[in-house]
Amino acid sequence: MTTAPPSTSLSRKGGSWLLDETPASDVFTPEKLSDEHRLMAKTTTEFVEAEVLPVLERLENKDWQLARSLVRRCGELGLLSIAVPEEYGGLDLDKASSLAVVEQIGPSASFATTFGGQANLCILPLVLFGTPEQKQTYLPRLLTGELIGAYALSESGSGSDALAAKTRATKLPDGNWSLSGEKMWISNGGFADLFIIFAKVDGEQFTAFIVERAFPGFSSGKEEHKMGLHGSSTTPIVLQDVVVPAGNVLGEIGKGHKVALNTLNYGRFSLGAMCSGGCRAAIKAAATYAAQRRQFGQPIASFGAIKHKLGEMTARTYALESLVYRTAGLIDATLGPAPHDGAAVARAFEEYAVEASIAKVAGSEILDYVLDENVQIHGGNGFVKDYTAERYYRDARVNRIFEGTNEINRLLIPGMLIRRALKGELPLIPAAKRLQDEVLSPSVATGGFGDQGVLDDEMRTVGAFKKVALMVIGTAMQTYGEKLTDEQEVVSFAADILIDIYASESAVLRARQASSSRHATADLQVQAARVFVNDAAQRVEAAAKSALAAMAEGDTLRTLLAALRRIVKISPVNTVAMRRALADAAVSRGRYILNES
Ligand SMILES: Cc1cc2nc3c(=O)[nH]c(=O)nc-3n(C[C@H](O)[C@H](O)[C@H](O)COP(=O)(O)OP(=O)(O)OC[C@H]3O[C@@H](n4cnc5c(N)ncnc54)[C@H](O)[C@@H]3O)c2cc1C
Repeated sequence: MTTAPPSTSLSRKGGSWLLDETPASDVFTPEKLSDEHRLMAKTTTEFVEAEVLPVLERLENKDWQLARSLVRRCGELGLLSIAVPEEYGGLDLDKASSLAVVEQIGPSASFATTFGGQANLCILPLVLFGTPEQKQTYLPRLLTGELIGAYALSESGSGSDALAAKTRATKLPDGNWSLSGEKMWISNGGFADLFIIFAKVDGEQFTAFIVERAFPGFSSGKEEHKMGLHGSSTTPIVLQDVVVPAGNVLGEIGKGHKVALNTLNYGRFSLGAMCSGGCRAAIKAAATYAAQRRQFGQPIASFGAIKHKLGEMTARTYALESLVYRTAGLIDATLGPAPHDGAAVARAFEEYAVEASIAKVAGSEILDYVLDENVQIHGGNGFVKDYTAERYYRDARVNRIFEGTNEINRLLIPGMLIRRALKGELPLIPAAKRLQDEVLSPSVATGGFGDQGVLDDEMRTVGAFKKVALMVIGTAMQTYGEKLTDEQEVVSFAADILIDIYASESAVLRARQASSSRHATADLQVQAARVFVNDAAQRVEAAAKSALAAMAEGDTLRTLLAALRRIVKISPVNTVAMRRALADAAVSRGRYILNES
C-alpha cells in the first residue's frame, strides 16, 4: 500500500517561515489527509480503543507479555512498517501516515511510549543508518513485533549532556567490540530484545551499537517507580564486557551523535503529534463530563468559566495540530515520493529540526495545559483514579523531560536558526539589519504579510511577531556576539517568540485554507486561530520586553521599547465570545470538533 505525498508543492528550507510569506494553499493540514491516511488513523483508533485502553490496568501491573502481544498486533496492522523501505517488508509511506498513526496512539500514553521505543527509537535509526545486512537481519522481525526494540542513550550522569556518556567500547583482537557501562531510564528496558546503545570507543569516539539482550554480559535492572506511565517499562541497562560483533556498529565510529540527533529530531516531531492526539482525547473527556455534570441546577458546561477552559483547550490544540501537520507536509515535500533512501530521510529530518523542536515544546506544554484544565473541569473526580483525567495528567508530565528537555529544545530553536544564518543558509542577519534601520525610524508599523481577505488582521499580527523575533535575535547577536549561548534566558525568550510565530501562522494558514474550501468547521477554525493569535500577541510582547530589558538600558532601551510598541500595536478582539462558540461546539458534539479525521 502506498499513499500519495501530501498535495503541497513546497520544498522550502527549514526555518524559512521566519522570513518568508507562505500561501495558505501550500501548507499541509488535517483536512488534506487522503482516504488512505484516514484509513490508517481509523485502524489505529479502533486498535487503541478495542485492544489497548481496556487492558491498561494489566499493563500498569507490568504484564510485559501483554505489551509484547500488543506490539505484535501493531505489526499485524502494519503500524510498525510505515517508515520502512519495501525491500525489508515495510510500506515506505509518507510522514503524514506516521502522523495519522501516532496521533491516535498518543492517548494510550504508556503504550504510546512502548510503541515509540519500537518504531521511533529502534526501527528508525536502523532505517536511517543501518547497513543492508543490519537491516536484513533485524528489520523484518522488528516490523512484525517478534523483536522488541529500545534505545539506550542516557546514563545516570549524562542525560541532557548525552555525549558525556561513560559507557565504553573496546575493540577486541578478533575485531569484535566489548561494551561496559550502565544506561538509565530506558523505555522497554525490562523486556526489549534489541537495543541501540551508545558508547565511547576507547572512552572518546561516541558510537552507536546494535546490541541483543541475548549477548552474554547484558542485563536490565529493576523497574523504576515512576510518577506516571506505569504501563511502560523503564529500567537501567547493565553491560558487563558484552561482546558485540564487529558488524553491529550502527553508522560510523565516532559519528554516534549523528545517529542520536537524527533519531531525536524525528522523535521530537512524533512526540508533538502524540501530544496533539492526547489533547483531543482530553477535550473529548472534558466536554462530555461538562455536559453531564450538574451543579446549581445546570450542567457545568453552561458556566462561562468552564466555557473559557474548553474554548482555550480547543484553540491551543488547533494551533498545535496545525503546526504538526504543516511540519509533516514540509518533510514529505522535501522527501518526495517513495522509495526513500535512509540518508535522504536523515537529511530531511535535519532540515526541519527547528520545527521538530517546536513541535516537541509546544506539544508537551499545550498538552500539560489541556490536561490540567481537564482535571479542573472534573473537579474532585479529576483527582481520583476512577476517571481518566488523573492518569492523563500524571502520564503527560514526562513529555517535557524526555526526547531532550524543553529547556534544551528551547536553546536549540534559536541556536539552530542562528547557526544557519551564520553559514549563509538563512538570510536572517540582513533581515535583522534592515529591521534595525527601520526601528530607528518612527514609521515602523505592524507587519503586512499577504492579505487574502480572511484573517488579514491576524496575518498582519503574525508579520509583526516576525519583526519582533528579528529585533530580539538581531539585538542579542549584536549585544553578545559569540557569547550569546551563555545568555540562556534571552535565548529562551527568543524561542518562546519563535514557537508562537510558527504556531500562530500555522493556525491562520490552516483556517484560511478551511475558509476558502468552505470546510464545514471553517467558521470555528477561524475563531480558534483568532483566539490563539490574540493571546500569542500578549505572550510575544511580554517575552520581547523581558529580553530587550536584559540587553539594553537608557535611551537605547527606550527606543527599542517604543519600536516594539509600534510593531505589536494590536487591537484586542472579543475572545470571550469566540471561546464560548468553540466550547459550545465541543460540548454539543462531545468532542474536539476541528478535526474530522
Ligand atoms: C519515563 C522516561 C523514559 C525515558 N526513556 C529513555 C529512553 O528510552 N532512552 C534514553 O536514552 N533515555 C530515556 N529517558 C531519559 C531522558 O531522556 C532524560 O531523563 C532526559 O534527557 C533528561 O536528562 P536528565 O534526567 O539527566 O536531566 P538533566 O540533564 O540532569 O537535567 C536536569 C534539569 O537541568 C536542565 N539542564 C540540563 N542541562 C542544561 C543546560 N545545558 N542548560 C540549561 N538547562 C539544563 C534540564 O533541562 C532539566 O530541567 C527517559 C526518561 C524517563 C523519565
